[in-house]
Amino acid sequence: MRMRFLVLIFGFVLAAALPARAALDIFACEPEWGALSRELGGAKVKVRDATSPLQDPHFVTARPSLIAAVRKADIVVCNGADLEIGWLPLLLRKSGNRDVQPGAKGNFLAADFINKLEIPTSVDRALGDIHPQGNPHIVGNPHNISIVAQALSQRFAEIDPENSAYYQARYQAFNDHWQSAIVKWETAAAPLRGLPIVVQHKTWVYLTDWLGLKVVATLEPRPGIPPTTSHLQKVLNEIRDSKPRLILNAAYENSKPSRWLAERTGVPAVTLPYTVGGTKEADDIFQLYEVMVNMLLENLE
Ligand SMILES: [Zn+2]
Repeated sequence: MRMRFLVLIFGFVLAAALPARAALDIFACEPEWGALSRELGGAKVKVRDATSPLQDPHFVTARPSLIAAVRKADIVVCNGADLEIGWLPLLLRKSGNRDVQPGAKGNFLAADFINKLEIPTSVDRALGDIHPQGNPHIVGNPHNISIVAQALSQRFAEIDPENSAYYQARYQAFNDHWQSAIVKWETAAAPLRGLPIVVQHKTWVYLTDWLGLKVVATLEPRPGIPPTTSHLQKVLNEIRDSKPRLILNAAYENSKPSRWLAERTGVPAVTLPYTVGGTKEADDIFQLYEVMVNMLLENLE
């Protein structure tokens, strides 16, 4: 009896000596997942974005500072669908952090929760195909964000159960606000439905699917392969009859191919932020869609 009492006392002393759990340490591969983590995690999380909004997320250097950040992370929140295939596996391996390896709770890939578009029937990476698991650019559709938000908030609660009520409440508040924002964006974007457009990289399939835009040409001959002038010339000839209304590229891309086509057709080239921070105005995840819908509408002549 006395022994059990001592063990109990010892347990209390030990618990008191341990510091309260520090904020959940989140390593976000791209700014959109960092922004969503901040929305859902509030004061209980500390988020580090691995890439800047103007950085191409397909191609990132696995710098020592990133390896160090993954080493101390409780969770990595990344896009998945092989968007980060060139760098994330290396970061995970070199970090030696067992909590964030594939299959662990601390390894969260947003695209795992989404029905992906453009899943190829055959893949040849030697030809430069950088979308072998289907199109990874799920951020284009805010309905995808709703699905990911629910899964991510549940994951936060699993890793940090002490704060599960907090995460649940934040998710509810976020989702209420998000669903009404989607209705607003969809109402505003109604005039875009059915309009023909050209895209530079296959960045926009989820956005065009959401808004009903019709992609009549892609400037890259294959995902990740910059177009040559002769290829652009070919696209120019092919699109004459379809009369596209906009040419879309992402803020992180070199917009030269889009501008080449814009100069020869008079069709406006529009550089969309793609992620949070891609333009100055797109400074949170709500503003990202607000800005993209407005830019599309404003550039329609
Ligand atoms: Zn891509």
